[in-house]
Amino acid sequence: MTDFNNIFQSQQKFFLSQQTKELCFRKSNLKKLKHLLKENEPKLYEAIYTDFGKSKFDTFSTELNMLYLEIDYFLKNLNKLMKPRKIGTNLVNMPGSSCLYYDPLGCALVIGAWNYPYQITLLPVIDAMAAGCTCMIKPSEIPANTMRVMAEIINNNFAPEYLYVVEGGVPETTTILEFPFDKIFFTGSPKVGKIVYEAAAKNLIPVTLELGGKSPCVVTESADLKVAARRIVWGKFLNGGQTCVAPDYLLVHQSVKDELLKEIKERIQYSGYTEGAEQYVRIINERNFQRIMSLMDISKIYCGGKTDEKNLYIEPTVLDNISWEDPIMQEEIFGPLLPVLTYETFDNALKAILKLPKPLSAYLFTGNKKEKEQLISVIPFGGGCINDTIMHLINNNLPFGGIGNSGTGHYHGKYGFECFSHLKPVLDKATWGEPDLKYPPYTTNKEKWIERLMK
Ligand code: NAD
Repeated sequence: MTDFNNIFQSQQKFFLSQQTKELCFRKSNLKKLKHLLKENEPKLYEAIYTDFGKSKFDTFSTELNMLYLEIDYFLKNLNKLMKPRKIGTNLVNMPGSSCLYYDPLGCALVIGAWNYPYQITLLPVIDAMAAGCTCMIKPSEIPANTMRVMAEIINNNFAPEYLYVVEGGVPETTTILEFPFDKIFFTGSPKVGKIVYEAAAKNLIPVTLELGGKSPCVVTESADLKVAARRIVWGKFLNGGQTCVAPDYLLVHQSVKDELLKEIKERIQYSGYTEGAEQYVRIINERNFQRIMSLMDISKIYCGGKTDEKNLYIEPTVLDNISWEDPIMQEEIFGPLLPVLTYETFDNALKAILKLPKPLSAYLFTGNKKEKEQLISVIPFGGGCINDTIMHLINNNLPFGGIGNSGTGHYHGKYGFECFSHLKPVLDKATWGEPDLKYPPYTTNKEKWIERLMK
């Protein structure tokens, strides 16, 4: 195994050299990364297509373009973000001034999941670079070709003491998790998130966890059903349903269920997600194929259901008459199966959602303002959309992250910069004009003044 400890120590040393803190260092390396990604696009497309049949269109729109936008955001805003922020100073600290400094946390470790391998692994790396950190990067080993191409691009072009891609699986991750990083950023399942959290606790390392869960999608009787069907089908079956923020299940008002399902079926047919379609992503591997198949109750299929194990193809499948007790409602689906449940009153729909762990996302299709406000205030969820799915994630002015079982902390844009920074507050005091009040010996007169001033 590569001597990762040696690389980690070189990153610690490099961080202490202060170079990563320079604005021009950060910007020139962000530009370099963008240039390298652009230059290597054909290789990146080929690798991901080989791994799980992801098309060039999908790879550009859901992975590479998000990386370019994140880099462009920092190239435009980094000067402003890095500037110390003046904060008001209270009376007892006068004469003086208060300021917030954004300090890079130091040596970061980013561990990625497999489902959007470029975006999920490299977007936090961009945030870490913008914040002035060094970074050890552990992509998922499951899409082996994408892992290799990322390692090749980064390890051949950046010094290992600044950025280094670790190729490997559980043994390699277990080894590097023992190092005293200054920040760990993990994307993956809640199960592995707990392992990472525990390892980080041993060295008191701050952690961001981007996890998954069952994201509800509620459709009320006042929703525009055509729009809802189009946006749900897109969000659910994008990437073959292997999206952390995909609507996991539908909760529909019983009066509109039949019409909505008819619209959804038509939309699936129109989208051309047929066997052999270039535009439809395959299931990542045999293990996940079998896991998803075990959740497909064929007696409840409304539409879809075709599969081809050899080609890891599962047709977009809608399952009707699902109950909360069905196996499909006991775990995150992470595949192209859409279970449909119904509700009678909006209050009961919210109560049912509250019984499950806090989701990464929540979606509501409605024309009713009161229902929007109610869902937003009652349900704890990472982020979400009204009358759309997934698109909140594409706005890098919004923070992205989970809550509780679906994660802790957030990133993207300014929030990503803050995620890898320590907000260092400093009070700068004048050496003149200080009353003697706080210093002993204490007197009753001083006590009165202190009480008055500290109010
Ligand atoms: P995973 O938890 O199995 O793996 C994630 C990473 O952890 C991989 O790099 C893997 O090598 C490493 N890992 C696996 N087992 C480990 C162990 N025992 N010790 C140390 N490291 C280990 O997740 P996955 O299958 O790659 O991704 C699917 C999950 O990720 C889903 O739950 C999905 O919702 C979630 N996800 C979340 C987001 C988000 O932004 N919140 C994005 C994508 C995926």
